[in-house]
Amino acid sequence: MSLRARLALLSTSIVGGILLIFGMAVYISVSLTITRQVDSTLSRAASQIIGNARAGRLGVTLPELDLFADVYIQVWGKDGQLESASQNIQGFNQPLDATGLNTTQPVFHDVIAGNVRLRVLTVPLIISSNDRVIGTLQVGTSLSMVETIQNVLLYVLFIGAGISMSIAGLASWVSTKQALSPLEDVTQTALQITRADDLSHRIPYKGPPDDEVGQLIHAFNETLSRLENLFDTQRRFVADVGHELRTPLTVIKGNVDLLRRMNCTDEESLSGIDNEVGRLTRLVGDLLLLAQAESGKLPLIKTDVEMDTLLLDVLNQMNVLAKDRVDLRLGEIDQVIVCGDRDRLKQVLVNLVGNAIKYTPQGGEVVIGLGKDDRRAHITVSDNGPGIPTEDLPHIFERFYRGEKSRTRSKDGKGFGLGLSIAYWIVQNHGGNIEVSNREPTGTTFCVWLPLADRSCPEE
Ligand code: ADP
Repeated sequence: MSLRARLALLSTSIVGGILLIFGMAVYISVSLTITRQVDSTLSRAASQIIGNARAGRLGVTLPELDLFADVYIQVWGKDGQLESASQNIQGFNQPLDATGLNTTQPVFHDVIAGNVRLRVLTVPLIISSNDRVIGTLQVGTSLSMVETIQNVLLYVLFIGAGISMSIAGLASWVSTKQALSPLEDVTQTALQITRADDLSHRIPYKGPPDDEVGQLIHAFNETLSRLENLFDTQRRFVADVGHELRTPLTVIKGNVDLLRRMNCTDEESLSGIDNEVGRLTRLVGDLLLLAQAESGKLPLIKTDVEMDTLLLDVLNQMNVLAKDRVDLRLGEIDQVIVCGDRDRLKQVLVNLVGNAIKYTPQGGEVVIGLGKDDRRAHITVSDNGPGIPTEDLPHIFERFYRGEKSRTRSKDGKGFGLGLSIAYWIVQNHGGNIEVSNREPTGTTFCVWLPLADRSCPEE
């Protein structure tokens, strides 16, 4: 059964249940009220008759019994003989209520006398001076009026309940159609995605964004965006890896062919092969590192690391790369200890300084600084190279992302666009973050923030 049908059925049942309880309450209270009214009429008639009766030596002298048109009255003697009866039941010689005749207390009974339902009050006639029972008075009235009222009431309640339940079911059916129609859009969009294998579809929703359906659609669209992003990244990743592998493999194959054709050991071809194999090894190493990092299998062995010593170490190593081309020097240096994996932090710095040297033209300068505030250390690597185009800035930490200029320059066989994404992962997993900004008028500054070491960090 559809959700819509179930909701309609539910609201119909709820309205039906409420009306049933309400109807029963109305029916019972109306019946009780009318019965009480009938009883009080019978009591009044009985007391009037008893009040006007007089007991004498010869028996009881009864008053006029036809005071009430719709009340039947019988007086029965102690010997079980009908003494007297009102005009409206002349000829009816049976007691109105046979079971009540021997009562010693006034009792009300519903009886059927001659196909008519009657309410009968039986009162023993007692002489108060000596408590002697001299007979029984029976006062009855027809219950047909009560039955009619009860039947009309039942009829009205049933018709009313039927109409209300139908209206409730219909209203719920119509309103849920409107409320649930966005879910149909969700289904259609999901089917379209499956059929066309296209994750760019989004579900349109014009209703309020904070209701349940709005939230569901928002969450679904978010999931789609995330999936689209993931698939895009994966597709790009495979394309990039393929692309990166193709160039060195083509070079290697060309050189091997050449060597074979010339049937000799050509030094230039061999060093070409050597370079490309080195490049492939670096690429595979970087990819492995990223894969380990992303699958959580790259352990960070954290100890106290003196960042000033580490910076000097990096400076010495990178001076070989800078040679006379770029002026690589230390700026302001503080004494700072952070808690981290020394080798991985060195990798971050080598990467940032390496990039700065790589992208800064001849005669430029690269300055490394180290400082701290209350909680964090900050390492800056600044150069006065061309800077990073604004459109590239949001992407440089993505895998395989290379700026337009670096892409052409990478033909020199250096970058794969993986260095900054590895650095980003390492810094993030040290509880820090890495920022980049363009310097005015030219140049780039990378700033790495790392939490300072506390007592919980193991010593080196
Ligand atoms: P690559 O191997 O291309 O250097 P990275 O991940 O290290 O890859 O860097 C990504 C991109 O960021 C580079 O291609 C380059 O466009 C840009 N970039 C990084 N550092 C600098 C810098 N100091 N100056 C200019 N551009 C830079």
